[in-house]
Amino acid sequence: MSSIKENITNFKNRLPEHVRLVAVSKTKPAEDILEAYNTGHLIFGENKAQELKDKQPGLPKDIQWHFIGHMQTNKVKYIAPFVSMIHSADRYKVLKEINKQAKKYDRIIPCLLQFHIAEEDTKFGFDWKEVKSMLESEAYKNLENIRLDGVMAMATFTEDMEQVRREFKQLKQYFDRLKSDHFSDDQNFKEVSMGMTNDYPVAIEEGSTMIRIGSAIFGARNY
Ligand SMILES: *Cc1c(COP(=O)(O)O)cnc(C)c1O
Repeated sequence: MSSIKENITNFKNRLPEHVRLVAVSKTKPAEDILEAYNTGHLIFGENKAQELKDKQPGLPKDIQWHFIGHMQTNKVKYIAPFVSMIHSADRYKVLKEINKQAKKYDRIIPCLLQFHIAEEDTKFGFDWKEVKSMLESEAYKNLENIRLDGVMAMATFTEDMEQVRREFKQLKQYFDRLKSDHFSDDQNFKEVSMGMTNDYPVAIEEGSTMIRIGSAIFGARNY
């Protein structure tokens, strides 16, 4: 089996310039993260607030931690002091809590709107109408300590890459409409976070700017 170092280097060499890599290190120990970090990679993704809170203090301070998992509002405070981006803002209530915690630490936390595009109903996320009505509400305008940088979604877990492609196209369309309706003057609103180990080539073809890769870098996870 190839090493983490080889995996991540190969990945980065093959990626188009406009696509950033989030190395998803959930369940993996500090040694594995350091092996990836020592190649010069800085962006890592975790999906559990408690796990991230426990790992972060023992690892280099210039790591940019991206949170990609479903967030319980009472756990936002664990990561608010240091998190670089939250990909999984999937309801108004969680954005409100991120805003509150960010304010406490005098920060502005970049977030992505997570859309529900998959067929399974187990995946979290906004639908289009919810996002539109939130963006038009007064309540949203008062959130001064968050910044919306784009959108994120997970496709259905299936071998059917045509279905996956349709779902990614849908997300890119949502992004384009939001960009022109609400963020045309906002240079920060530019991210489309889509693509994982099994579907990233399709995601890149459909306009991804950030892929989130775990197993192809760190190997299979043992839960
Ligand atoms: C675990 C996870 C990934 C990475 O999954 P792999 O299939 O291991 O690449 C990406 N995004 C999210 C939201 C995840 O939870």
